[in-house]
Amino acid sequence: MRLLLLAALTLPMYTQTIGIAMLMHESNSFNANPTQRADFTVVAGNAPNWRPFFDAQKNEVTGFLDVVTRDPKIKIVQGLYASATPKGAVAKPAYESLVNELIDSLKSQGPLDGILLALHGAMVAEHFPQADEETLRRVREAFPKIPIVVTHDFHANISPQTLNYCTALIVYQQTPHIDTRARGQRAANILLRTLKGEIHPVQSMVKPPMVFNILYHNTFAGVFHPITQDSIQLENSNPKILSASVLAGYQYADVPFMGPAAVIVADGDRNLAEREAKRLSDRLWAVRDELKLNAPNAESAVKNAMRAAKFPVALMDTGDNIGGGSAGDSTFLLAELLKQKADGWVVVMYDPAAVDAALKAGIGGTFDMPVGGKSDSQHGQPIHVKGRVRSFDDGDYIETAVRHGGNTFYKMGLTAVIEAEGSTPTMKNYLVLTKKRSSPNSIHQIVHLGIYPERQKILVAKGTIAPRAAYEPVSAEIVLVDTPGATAVNPGHFTFKLVPKDLFGLKP
Ligand SMILES: [Zn+2]
Repeated sequence: MRLLLLAALTLPMYTQTIGIAMLMHESNSFNANPTQRADFTVVAGNAPNWRPFFDAQKNEVTGFLDVVTRDPKIKIVQGLYASATPKGAVAKPAYESLVNELIDSLKSQGPLDGILLALHGAMVAEHFPQADEETLRRVREAFPKIPIVVTHDFHANISPQTLNYCTALIVYQQTPHIDTRARGQRAANILLRTLKGEIHPVQSMVKPPMVFNILYHNTFAGVFHPITQDSIQLENSNPKILSASVLAGYQYADVPFMGPAAVIVADGDRNLAEREAKRLSDRLWAVRDELKLNAPNAESAVKNAMRAAKFPVALMDTGDNIGGGSAGDSTFLLAELLKQKADGWVVVMYDPAAVDAALKAGIGGTFDMPVGGKSDSQHGQPIHVKGRVRSFDDGDYIETAVRHGGNTFYKMGLTAVIEAEGSTPTMKNYLVLTKKRSSPNSIHQIVHLGIYPERQKILVAKGTIAPRAAYEPVSAEIVLVDTPGATAVNPGHFTFKLVPKDLFGLKP
């Protein structure tokens, strides 16, 4: 008796086992460079840094863990984590190996009672345009009988079939994505309550036949704001609504189900789910005529920024939106800054060869060479820049605040800071050259290099909406600039094959 009691006290008495895994990629069909296995940051489920990695983040997996770790009787099975900076479609071998490893990581530690799976929703594989649907189909096939609750990014292009492979689909409601952790918590609560038999999720999705242009994805202002508020209000006011997601889709993926959607998860009430999904989808459709492509070009954006009453002005290089899968070395804005002799600017540019040249010159050495425009033919010509090498950095930085995507750790590779031509002792022009493409989701990308944004006049950020959470607190004004590139905001620049031809907004 005594012995038995002792055993009960020392052995964990798990009542449930939950698998957690994450496979994230937003794939740009118009970037010709495929995303390879080596592009992914991969953390295996049994890696010692798995748990510390997620505990330090603010993303959906952190949200899953917030909830499931509250109950000491739940055993967590740590599945594969894999994520890569957006680029071209995922190469077939990379996709196959990652999905196999993800399923193995969950199967080998089973049996499981439920799964929490973070997928992007806009992954394109070379052999599966709607790759997240295929991933989920395989996970469902491997685990046919247990609840699977899935999270997606606001930029997901969701196929109807996706909903058939999961118990509930919860999508970020906000862009910039600062609600990733909260959406993860919501997903985990739905899974645990389903396992207890408290709720019976049913879901419905309605997609309006349109492109919801990326210029209008800010959910904190403008046309999307009231629709997002509506979905949040719906979740807060009706206990039968387990999740209400209104998402904009991702216009750079040439896939059959590109575009926005409303996804409702309700407790046992299919009519309610269908009705609310239709109502919110109708709200997206109703604002279609307001989605005008009215952003200034590079020339006028720089001209206006130089004459601004208050600085700094942040110029969003929408055609070279690294978080949307562009090259990261577009030169259209840099060319205008030099041509118009702007001062006090900061440009971050992916250019490994230029970093090497700066290294050769050394600190204080002369920098004199063409930069950027080297990845492909869509992002402008290389531009000759003269200057002085100021400093180097290993390119690792952290973000402690909640910013787009909820990430803490950033790596942009070996980085050189050039004080470019036109700099004066009190007003510098900074060209930051990096060895890796890194989306400007955090202001620490430049702050950790000793560049103070408040002392500058013009900050160029290679993104569209995502950098707002980082740049709004330090900028007098944010201007979206209509630049060419793999993420040009006008879908008319691209030739689509799989997207339905009659989508509103495809040919503005
Ligand atoms: Zn996104």
